[in-house]
Amino acid sequence: MDFFSYRDHTLMCEEVPVREIAKQAGTPVYIYSAKTATEHVARIQEAFAPIDPLICFSMKANSNHTLLTRLLAQGVGCDVVSGGELFRALKAGCSPDKIVFAGVSKTDGEIETALKTGILMFNVESIAELENIDKIAGELGTPGRVALRLNPDVDPETHRYITTGKLENKFGIDMKVAAAVLDDWHFKNVSFVGFHLHIGSQITQTKPYAESITKTLALIEHARNKNHPVEYLNVGGGFGINYFGNEARTMPEYAEVIVPLLKDQGLKILFEPGRFIVGNAGILVTEALYIKESGAKRFVMCDAGMTDLMRPSLYQAYHKIWPVTSPIEFDSIADPEQDPRLVLTDVVGPICESGDFFAQDRRIPLVSRGDLLSVFSAGAYGFTMSSTYNSHPRPAEVLVEGSEWNVVRNRETYEDLIRDEVI
Ligand SMILES: *Cc1c(COP(=O)(O)O)cnc(C)c1O
Repeated sequence: MDFFSYRDHTLMCEEVPVREIAKQAGTPVYIYSAKTATEHVARIQEAFAPIDPLICFSMKANSNHTLLTRLLAQGVGCDVVSGGELFRALKAGCSPDKIVFAGVSKTDGEIETALKTGILMFNVESIAELENIDKIAGELGTPGRVALRLNPDVDPETHRYITTGKLENKFGIDMKVAAAVLDDWHFKNVSFVGFHLHIGSQITQTKPYAESITKTLALIEHARNKNHPVEYLNVGGGFGINYFGNEARTMPEYAEVIVPLLKDQGLKILFEPGRFIVGNAGILVTEALYIKESGAKRFVMCDAGMTDLMRPSLYQAYHKIWPVTSPIEFDSIADPEQDPRLVLTDVVGPICESGDFFAQDRRIPLVSRGDLLSVFSAGAYGFTMSSTYNSHPRPAEVLVEGSEWNVVRNRETYEDLIRDEVI
């Protein structure tokens, strides 16, 4: 679901023509639809109303300040994975008691800040980290709350780089180890409040959730038998979105499987969706600078590349790409392989790497120099993964709300590139 659509052959974000934004803000530019993101939050809230979860938005998907304030206005909290994200969450006005903190290598400084801030809980990824949080909390005289992040050894059936809940992954604590720690709980400065799961991202099936929750419920029973009042279960994020067409489950489909398992368990439920909320709420708009025919290949060389949107290079991810202005409607294509109006194209960026592409051997309408292209579903893990490799300044970010739009992060300048260098 999103509020990007073609009207009179030109792409609109909500009520604003995308080419108008590109003309004024320049390219490459990220354009976010606020209404799409807030609608996604509402869909989770609706589908899971029977278990009334706290939704902690996973900030690493998109940490833009202004967009975040719009999500916070809906009552969501934040899932942070660094001191930097904690700083951003607080800056945007997130209440500390709605912040959860995961990540396998939390520094002493990050732990200290989070304790002093009084966050809801740490999602602890190893016993060594648990001991360290306990030690720091003791030294500060500031008790902390911890959930144990479990590694339930479940296959989320997604790309292996975004699989996090198998024992071969670095994340979470082996369930047997977690049980043993609870049997012999001797930590004085942290209280155990529950369990955390996050088994992967872009999960398009319900079964991995059912499996990992069922395994965890057994451990919760074990913990309660040992007199641990298990208050929280954080199910993590991972809900998949549609990059192609209809590959993801809908929120009601996830809820149908998850709600019955968690209802009446006496647990406060947390979710940490990132991609589901913002993935389809953003596009990256780029200009085609040159066209080159080379052997059997037709390359469209754009002003945006892997430094702006890394997902195709990093995960072989598919992003729909279509001209911002096109008489050919994407939805009118029955079979791209057979449609004579489409041209086999490689959409590539300016970076000096062969891995710098958005699409290879993709059939899209004929693109000419100066045309604008939209790379869809770029709202999650887009800008947050950007870099300045090859000294390409990062793109601008624009937030659209109805018929209004604003630059919510300026395009970086050349001066920004050297600002922190000591000359
Ligand atoms: C990345 C991450 C998420 C969000 O994952 P999505 O697939 O974007 O929903 C949630 N929790 C933790 C701990 C994460 O690292």
